[in-house]
Amino acid sequence: MAAMAGEASGRRPGWDWLARSVRGQAPFLSAPPPDGRGLCADCRIPVPARNARCYPCGQHAETLPGLLADVVVPISYAVKGGEHARNLWLYKSARPGAGAARAALRALLVVFLRDHGQCVWRAAGMAGPTHFAVVPSGRGRRGPHPLRAMAGPCLSLPWAALELRLPDEPGTRELDAGRFRAAPLAGADVALLDDTWTTGASAQSASAALRLAGARSVAVIVLGRHVAAPVQAAPVQAAPVQAAPVQAAPVQAAPVQAAPVQAAPVQAAAPVLAAPVQAAAPVQAAAPVLAVASAAGRAPAVMPFRPALCAVHARAGDGGQ
Ligand SMILES: [Zn+2]
Ligand SMILES: [Zn+2]
Repeated sequence: MAAMAGEASGRRPGWDWLARSVRGQAPFLSAPPPDGRGLCADCRIPVPARNARCYPCGQHAETLPGLLADVVVPISYAVKGGEHARNLWLYKSARPGAGAARAALRALLVVFLRDHGQCVWRAAGMAGPTHFAVVPSGRGRRGPHPLRAMAGPCLSLPWAALELRLPDEPGTRELDAGRFRAAPLAGADVALLDDTWTTGASAQSASAALRLAGARSVAVIVLGRHVAAPVQAAPVQAAPVQAAPVQAAPVQAAPVQAAPVQAAPVQAAAPVLAAPVQAAAPVQAAAPVLAVASAAGRAPAVMPFRPALCAVHARAGDGGQ
């Protein structure tokens, strides 16, 4: 079955398959709108209008100022009990359906990086990442992290060494700059990947470890921002372009084919991005991020649940903070 494409170790799925997989997931994906109104400035869950951040993110900002991620970008909400949350739970397991969950999540990550990587890098103040990293599992399991094993074949940058110092005691999920240890990373720009964000303590502790190791900037990309119920601000839809309240930024979703994709490395093509994003940043400076060769000559997949936007698409100009 198609869901198995690319599931075998080391095999890279083709771009068409990846794009189709994400279109198939659209009905159960939903995303924070980039205007950020009513959402936590960091993790994008709904907060009361007078608050800039949710409680955990506010605590983290006070606890480790200067060591947290430059930007946190959830690709989608993971609604408790929903299909996406189920995939995020299943992909690490050996249960039936784990392979399909891995294939789906890998497609989502790769398509997002292809279509919106530039938004994230710009919001984090980097031309592009020099390294990928994953937030280590708190249990200290052996072997490569399932997220790295899943995405690695499609990604082309070196991986920053990041590990848990000691297996977590049960219940320890606090923000702690000493919880993880990273190898020296002087001047590195790191794309830190995580599967699920709940309080963000793990991802922010990992960001702190990367910074203490010398990283210049850290952008956290999360496959699923856990929420207990659907977030009204961003209704689930495989929707028509105008559905999203696109403010200020002139983001024309439609002319997908306009992007001259072939010449540049994959991510440099910045396919769907609005003009300001391409104009401002030294886009080509970065090394290729994706190793999915067939993506280079294809039209961007366009995140179908949010045709031309991501959580920082229109916020990139203010640094995503
Ligand atoms: Zn938050
Ligand atoms: Zn974007």
